[in-house]
Amino acid sequence: GGGEAAGETYRVGIDTTYPPFEFEEGGEYKGIDIDLINAIAENQGFEIEFNPMDFGGIIPALQAGQLDIAIAGMSITDERKEVVDFSDPYFDAGLSLVVAEDNNDITSLEDLEGATVAVKSGTTGAQFARDNQDEYGYEVAQFEDSPSMFQEVSNGNADVLLEDYPVIAYAIAESGLSLKTVGDRLTGDQYGIAVLKGENAEVLEQINAGLQELRDSGEYDEILNEYIGE
Ligand code: GLN
Repeated sequence: GGGEAAGETYRVGIDTTYPPFEFEEGGEYKGIDIDLINAIAENQGFEIEFNPMDFGGIIPALQAGQLDIAIAGMSITDERKEVVDFSDPYFDAGLSLVVAEDNNDITSLEDLEGATVAVKSGTTGAQFARDNQDEYGYEVAQFEDSPSMFQEVSNGNADVLLEDYPVIAYAIAESGLSLKTVGDRLTGDQYGIAVLKGENAEVLEQINAGLQELRDSGEYDEILNEYIGE
């Protein structure tokens, strides 16, 4: 630290199984998060080296010093704030339940007694499943990536999955799996860009300044519209 930050290369952790935020297509990384962080890098004058990994590995990699920045549809939570610093929020999200299209038995948490709930390791969905397991009496099955979790409900090995609502529609459309969202949104949160806590004030300042610039210029809206335009 303390040196000239401009032109530095930051290692950015991403979860490329997470469209429309992050995915790989034709050998290229694409999505809202990818475009946002690339645009921030451009307006703040730094370079990026993307490091794709399972979501559950991202915060540990930040802690181990293997990453400088993480952008991964990551929800800002108090628990994570103990180990990372988050940028200003850049997207509203939260959890919903997803079941097979022909499942008419499960429409809310109250219907989950004895059911198997698929979640992705290290996510807010996994945390929610643990926190509510005793009350609703279901089994939890953990997966390392979102496509495996969607597949598991589609093929009937799990009854339901927990996922962020902005991701669900896109994931279902992309995968072609016969799944549907049921019930009310279970939680509300916001996505933030993370850096290791207490050691990256300069990077975080750049990220927030860059994000604000994108909002002011309209580029933020353009990026969102490209992937989830009305
Ligand atoms: N928003 C969720 C979380 O922060 C899921 C993120 C993800 O699966 N990439 O845990």
